[in-house]
Amino acid sequence: MTWEPVIGLEIHVQLATSSKIFSGAPTTYGAPPNTQACAVDLGLPGVLPVVNGRAIELAILFGLAIEAEIAPYSVFARKNYFYPDLPKGYQISQYEMPIVGLGRFEIRLANGQRKFIRVRRAHLEEDAGKSVHDAYPGLSGIDLNRTGTPLLEVVSEPDLASAAEAVTFMRGMHALVKFLGVSDGNMQEGSFRCDANVSIRRRGTNILGTRTEIKNLNSFRFVERAINYEIERQTEVLETGGKITQETRLYDPDKDETRPMRSKEDAHDYRYFPDPDLLPIVITEADLVAARAALPELPAQKIARYLTEYALNQDDAEALISERGIAAYFETLVMESGDPRLAANWVTGEVFAAVNRARIEFSRVPVSARELAKLLVRIGDNTVSRSIAKQVFEAMWSEGGTADQIIADRGLKQVTDDGEISALINSVIAESPEQVAQFRAGKEKVFSYFVGQIMKKSKGKASPQQVNTLLLEKLNEQT
Ligand code: ADP
Ligand code: MG
Repeated sequence: MTWEPVIGLEIHVQLATSSKIFSGAPTTYGAPPNTQACAVDLGLPGVLPVVNGRAIELAILFGLAIEAEIAPYSVFARKNYFYPDLPKGYQISQYEMPIVGLGRFEIRLANGQRKFIRVRRAHLEEDAGKSVHDAYPGLSGIDLNRTGTPLLEVVSEPDLASAAEAVTFMRGMHALVKFLGVSDGNMQEGSFRCDANVSIRRRGTNILGTRTEIKNLNSFRFVERAINYEIERQTEVLETGGKITQETRLYDPDKDETRPMRSKEDAHDYRYFPDPDLLPIVITEADLVAARAALPELPAQKIARYLTEYALNQDDAEALISERGIAAYFETLVMESGDPRLAANWVTGEVFAAVNRARIEFSRVPVSARELAKLLVRIGDNTVSRSIAKQVFEAMWSEGGTADQIIADRGLKQVTDDGEISALINSVIAESPEQVAQFRAGKEKVFSYFVGQIMKKSKGKASPQQVNTLLLEKLNEQT
């Protein structure tokens, strides 16, 4: 390939505050139109915005998590443009002095290599309202519920070299903001969406090509497809001697293509200026010391620790930190059971499967980590086999109760007595002369037939290892 893609993302993260960024109106999603906006959001004359302290805290939390400089002094600016869903005629954003400066975020590429993606800045801003085009024939409605919702816009450097890298970065950011509780990350509700800036250049050159910006991508799949489409389109234009126009484009998922939306506006078109209604944000060294102290162990740090301390593999470690609640559950399970590998297998296996079957959030798992740990201890001390343990877990899940109680009530204790197991083996051998003959004739596959019959007779309770050893002894004895 002679062309090299260059991609930078602008990710809009809706901050998890209960009220707007400059007013006390609620941020509830899905409420009837125009019920969640107050005079400030509507930009009525005479009102004054007051910044929401929680939005600032969340921005700082995010900034620290990407090792960014936090600006001791940052400023809100007015970005002026006209649109029906923007009643004030300007959006309050940050321009020259954003709250979060240069940071970086590490991603793992498909080939296992790691790469730092630089984050140029992250700034606070308010969201606009929404035009509704399908409610009234021939007319458009305006819903201002969304107006003033706090956003953190995260701007990457153009460090991403493929659609797959861009998606990996976006997924990593998504996991991070959810993990930190900076955002609920709900992509269907628009809490996490991105604009992708795409250009290509000849391999080996350093100057950036002309870029296009694809607006408002709200799924990982769309990001990947839109970028790939755009790379192909630009390649074709340049190879046939054409030129790329710098413009804003829209991705149409039905046609799987991007279309021009408008020519790209320049910053000066917006007439940015500091908002005279708002004070600058001042963050002291003491604020930062406190914020750093409150920073939890981050997903990347947890992964590294799970690999070294618990000897887990990368995939399991990633699955276990995908939500903060899952990581907490897993870590309690490890502490209480003392067996990290078994704990990881159970969370990523049985627990995830049960969560999927029940279609619930992980936080609703009815079996606590403490109770599950007691079951894992019973696997460890050979009270139950792994397959019986699954039955016990299902009972704990659907009916409640402790592992020990269920094992006792249902007589599920593993049979580990050699004499008892030998008796089972003898009776199966006596019942199966044909299979014994086959085994003696060298057909080793029938071994599993015997194991199956014995396990069935024991109702799954015979210790599988003991059955294997004793059965082999007996079959060989008789040949
Ligand atoms: P604007 O503010 O006009 O959208 P910026 O220069 O701030 O433009 O860049 C916005 C995003 O575009 C950033 O994520 C940046 O990495 C990316 N970007 C800038 N130039 C290019 C380019 N030539 N190719 C790909 N991405 C680019
Ligand atoms: Mg932009």
